[in-house]
Amino acid sequence: MAKTRTTRKTLDSYTIKSTNKIIKPGDCVLMRPAHSSKPSYVAKVEKIESDARGGNVKVLARWYYRPEESIGGRRQFHGSKEVFLSDHRDLQSADTIEGKCTVHSFKSYTKLDAVGNDDYFCRFEYNSVTGAFVPDRVAVYCKCEMPYNPDDLMVQCDGCADWFHPACIEMTPEEAKQMEHFYCGNCSTEEQKLLQNAHATSRHTDTKVGTKRRRRNQT
Ligand SMILES: [Zn+2]
Ligand SMILES: [Zn+2]
Repeated sequence: MAKTRTTRKTLDSYTIKSTNKIIKPGDCVLMRPAHSSKPSYVAKVEKIESDARGGNVKVLARWYYRPEESIGGRRQFHGSKEVFLSDHRDLQSADTIEGKCTVHSFKSYTKLDAVGNDDYFCRFEYNSVTGAFVPDRVAVYCKCEMPYNPDDLMVQCDGCADWFHPACIEMTPEEAKQMEHFYCGNCSTEEQKLLQNAHATSRHTDTKVGTKRRRRNQT
């Protein structure tokens, strides 16, 4: 009986077609969507393989889902560049790889000076069958008790250090940007109100974004 031989071999790297960009296992890539009207798929390359002669290169892609592709859909706190690391994998032709991208942790994403086209962030793993997220709880902020959406401007209370959406404290974004000091309804005193009027500009910095004082279910 003839022995079965593996005709596929594992590659350490692959150069994206018509570019000089090299991808390796562990890298994140953009892959051509099934319909050109759709945004590119975001995937983590877990393995690269070819036939015995180095042709017919395929990658094992672990998909990142966009919020709108998840069972629960896109929610208000989801960022425009947010993706969820799913448990869904496919063997894909390397020809569909369009380019490299970076999927940042939530923390490093909020510290980017500028968000490029190829920058994404991931704070949840996603089970594509059950729709469950890990972690299933996340810090919430503001009177509206929402998780932080890094696309949204928030102002921090100098008293309790919670973050607030300008709209939730009856302020325009312009007004919020011009404040040097802000005290929320709970922390506000007459003295602090005077201070508030005397200064300008407090945009949120990201150092306190990880504050997890209150928690609630994410779904
Ligand atoms: Zn709010
Ligand atoms: Zn406060």
